[in-house]
Amino acid sequence: MYAKLKDLLTQELDAFRASGLYKEERVIESPQGPRITVKGRPLLNFCANNYLGLSSHPKVIEAAHKALDEWGYGMSSVRFICGTQEIHKQLERKVADFLRQDDAILYAACFDANGGVFEPFMSEDCAIITDALNHASIIDGVRLTKAQRLIYQHADMNDLENKLKQSRDAMFRMIVTDGVFSMDGDIAHLKEICMLSEWYEAIVMVDDSHATGFIGPTGRGTPEYWDVESKVDVITTTFGKALGGASGGATVGHREMIDMLRQRSRPYLFSNTLAPAVVGATLAVLDLLSESDDLRKKLQLNTKYFRDGMARLGFDIRPGVHPIVPIMLYEAKAAVELASRLLDEGIYVIAFSYPVVPKGQARIRVQISAAHEQDHLDRALEAFGKVGRELGVIG
Ligand SMILES: *Cc1c(COP(=O)(O)O)cnc(C)c1O
Repeated sequence: MYAKLKDLLTQELDAFRASGLYKEERVIESPQGPRITVKGRPLLNFCANNYLGLSSHPKVIEAAHKALDEWGYGMSSVRFICGTQEIHKQLERKVADFLRQDDAILYAACFDANGGVFEPFMSEDCAIITDALNHASIIDGVRLTKAQRLIYQHADMNDLENKLKQSRDAMFRMIVTDGVFSMDGDIAHLKEICMLSEWYEAIVMVDDSHATGFIGPTGRGTPEYWDVESKVDVITTTFGKALGGASGGATVGHREMIDMLRQRSRPYLFSNTLAPAVVGATLAVLDLLSESDDLRKKLQLNTKYFRDGMARLGFDIRPGVHPIVPIMLYEAKAAVELASRLLDEGIYVIAFSYPVVPKGQARIRVQISAAHEQDHLDRALEAFGKVGRELGVIG
C-alpha cells in the first residue's frame, strides 16, 4: 500500500530540495542563549525569540528545578480530570493579573490556545474578520469554525472597515489580529482597531505572542502599548518566547469567555496538562518581570543600538521599535548568501524568502535579546558591515 504514497512523497521532497525550500534543522550543542555551539563552533545567536534572555536564566532554571522537586515531573492527565495542581491555578491568576484581565486558561502551546479560542464562540451565524498576515495557528483556529471568514489586507484599516460593513448581518463579529507580526516586527494598529470595534460592535482578539513581557511601558504587550487594555476582549499568548521560552500558552480575557473555554475548548479538554516544571518556571518569570523592568529596558536599548548601527552602515531595515529587525535584501539569493557568509563570521541569522514572505521581499530577520551584551552587538554590526561591503549590499 505504501509504495504509491512513497513515490509521491519522494518526488515532492526532491522538488523541495531542488527549489531550495527544503528545511534543514540546525542542531545546537549547548543551552539556548546569546552564545550557542553548532557543529563544535561557537556562534552568536541572533534568531531566537529569547527576547528577555530568560531561556537559560539561572532564576528560571532554579524555579523549574524547584517545581520538579515539589510537584513532580508529569501529570498524566488533562486539566479537568486530575491534571490541575495549585500551581496551575496560581499561574492562571498571575497571567490574568499581569495582563490586567479577568481570568486566564492555560494551554500546552499558544498554537493550541488559538486552535481552541474561536470555535466555542463563533457559530455559523457569526463572522471572523482577520488580518491577512495572521499567524498560521489563527488561520487554523478560524478554519475549525463554521463562521463566515473575512480577510482584510494586512494592517489596512479601510479594508477592515469594509469587511465590518460587509458583515453587518452577523450575530457576533470578532476582529482578530497578531499584536506584532513576526516577519516585519510591525505592531497592529490596536487604537484604530478598537475604535472600529466600538463603532461596529465587534469583539477584539489579539495574539500577543511576540509582545507579552516586553512591549508597552511595563511589558504588558500591545494593548498597553496603545493604551487600549480595557478595550481588547481576549488575548492569546505564549510562554515559549519572551517568558522563558519553554512551552505553553494562555488565553486571557473576560470571565465568562474563559469559563466557557473551560467547558468547550477542545485543545484544553483533550490534551495534556502543562508540565509542573514549566508552570513553576513561568510563575518565576512573571514575578521577575513584575519586580524589575531591567530586562525590558536593556532589550529596548539593545534594539535601538543595533537598529541605529545597521542604519548607519547603510542597510535597508524596516523601521520600527521591535527587537525583530528585518534587513531587506529583496532578492532571495542575496539574502541566503548574506546569511551564509555571516555564519562564516560566527553570526547566526536566518534568511526568509517566498513563500514565508511575499515574492521579491526576501530579508534577513535579526532578533535582539536582553541577553546580548554590547560586545555581541558590536561583533554582529562589524560582521554585517564587512560581509555587506564584500557582497556589494552596502557602499
Ligand atoms: C509563536 C507564535 C505562536 C505559537 O506559539 P507556541 O506557544 O509556540 O505554540 C502563536 N501565535 C503567534 C503570533 C506566534 O508568534
